[in-house]
Amino acid sequence: MSEIKNNGQLKENRIIEGYIKLETGLHIGGNKDSLEIGGVDAVVIKDLKTGKPIIPGSSLKGKMRSSLEYLLGLCDRDKKNPDVLHIHASIEPCNDKNCPICVIFGSSKNELSFKTRLIVRDSIALEEESIYTEIKMENALTRVNLSATPRKFERVPAGTTFPLELVYSIYDQNNDRKLFSKVFEALTCIEHSYLGGQGSRGYGKVKFYITKITAYDNAYYKNEGKERVIFENEKGVSPSEVRKKLYS
Ligand SMILES: [Zn+2]
Repeated sequence: MSEIKNNGQLKENRIIEGYIKLETGLHIGGNKDSLEIGGVDAVVIKDLKTGKPIIPGSSLKGKMRSSLEYLLGLCDRDKKNPDVLHIHASIEPCNDKNCPICVIFGSSKNELSFKTRLIVRDSIALEEESIYTEIKMENALTRVNLSATPRKFERVPAGTTFPLELVYSIYDQNNDRKLFSKVFEALTCIEHSYLGGQGSRGYGKVKFYITKITAYDNAYYKNEGKERVIFENEKGVSPSEVRKKLYS
């Protein structure tokens, strides 16, 4: 039987579940208007309904993207100032149909019109207690006269956990399956870097725990097949462990 060319047919969705645990305080900036605490200079983004802190899917996805760009050396260099790096494919369209960045994260600046393969869900803190954040003072030193300008930062405290849910879609059987491993590489890079702001001051150290990966193929949606559990571990394991298990 000859292989039918894929005209955009969805072959499979893979849902990755787990949780994100904060090892140090996290600051992902929110809208100051929505906060009642007085005198805070930088607030964290929160769910309007529950008041609990959020990790927006866009923040995690953006950090995954930039981590992979650095890992693969695919940032764009500014033409006038080569020391300045830009987001991949933001200056010139990328015409590589197998490009890991454009395929996984999508790109609108391409004739090949890459469809994004990765969805990252918004995540609301799991903690039940009523105190969800802490205020930390940071000193911004003026280089000229070393005068300190104290600023109050709101952070989500270390130990807080958030649910993790990613959806990875497979259209091209070979390339998309191969690139699935990059998702775990990106998450590992974030563990060794940080999430959110003030990372160089120690904020935003996180650990990911993957508990389950389930595959839903094309037949599943037509009630002709069942889902397939690719990976399961109740306690959850690190993304690098998952990568090893899936690709060794
Ligand atoms: Zn690209």
